[in-house]
Amino acid sequence: MTVWRDVVGQDETVATLSAAAADPAQMTHAWLLTGPPGSGRSTAARAFAAALLCPDHGCGDCHECRTAKDGSHADVTVVATEGLSIQVKDARELARVAQHRPSVGAWRIIIIEDADRLTERAADALLKALEEPVPRTVWLLCAPSLEDVIVTIRSRSRHVRLRTPPADAVAELLVRRDDVDPAMAAYAARAAQSHVGLARRLARDEGARIRRRDTLQLAGRIGSLGDAMEAAADLASIATEESTASSAERDAAEKQRLLEQLGADPAARTQPPHIRSQVSALEKEQKTRATRFGRDVVDRSLVDLLSLYRDALVVQAGTPVELVNVDQTELLATLARSFSAEQLLACMTAIGSARERIEANVPPLLALEAMTISLRLPQRR
Ligand SMILES: [Zn+2]
Repeated sequence: MTVWRDVVGQDETVATLSAAAADPAQMTHAWLLTGPPGSGRSTAARAFAAALLCPDHGCGDCHECRTAKDGSHADVTVVATEGLSIQVKDARELARVAQHRPSVGAWRIIIIEDADRLTERAADALLKALEEPVPRTVWLLCAPSLEDVIVTIRSRSRHVRLRTPPADAVAELLVRRDDVDPAMAAYAARAAQSHVGLARRLARDEGARIRRRDTLQLAGRIGSLGDAMEAAADLASIATEESTASSAERDAAEKQRLLEQLGADPAARTQPPHIRSQVSALEKEQKTRATRFGRDVVDRSLVDLLSLYRDALVVQAGTPVELVNVDQTELLATLARSFSAEQLLACMTAIGSARERIEANVPPLLALEAMTISLRLPQRR
């Protein structure tokens, strides 16, 4: 078993990184790992860290490998933003850590999982560290694409690109690593369009599977204008529910921790002003994170819907291409029968514009309404 086993469908990337870990001549002080969401950027970065620290260049079993992978190794710093931007004070701290020699291993490794979320000032604060490499320090920056990373950072790092892994490789990983039943793994990998994290959640969480099915089923019910408004509201509320459920507990724990750090009494009704201002700053950050998370959830629903109309197009044309939604035969037949090919393409365009508008900060409900109006089934208009 090697440390690269969980980096699925990325032969080229694994070849480049494992060669660099084994041969100092191929090593670089800063790497930029890009790849679509769910392709395994951070898994690849952690595996690389393990390969650099492991005496056998990534056996996968030793203490170095295990702690590098889970981020607890003394010489590995992992920055994961969970949706918040990376601020200049955090970047300065990283630049400071980068100056230190490794404490136990051969390398000091700094992994930034969302280098696309560095603010401009934060990126500036990192530049000097990237320009003047410290001999045993390695930066591993991850981002969806090159364009998402500030150009000055881009030009100072070596680029490695991950691709969308094949669905069967993702299914195989779920079976092997997460002990998922093979049929379920195959369904989840296909439905998640090879997004490893989503596939894992679909396979293990029935609620997620139900939410996905409900989202797709909306498509078959949009006849009138009223249906369209209702479908948009449903899509928005599914996202709000998921976002609230996932953040409530973490938000409360963060607040508790902050109060403890400040030496305040968490049970007190009112807090002194300097504590209140810190608490309200945290609450503001949490709200930003919840908004971003809600938008991500909406976007995932839209990606699911997009795959449905694309499948309907495939069914209609009778092309021998594998479907994403094999379990939705009836719905696909309805869509293929009701819409012409041009109309199906127009539906896909409408979904695409909704995604763009939400990305550009248009209120989600507004963008969704405009979209669902375009998704009305023709013969019932
Ligand atoms: Zn090892």
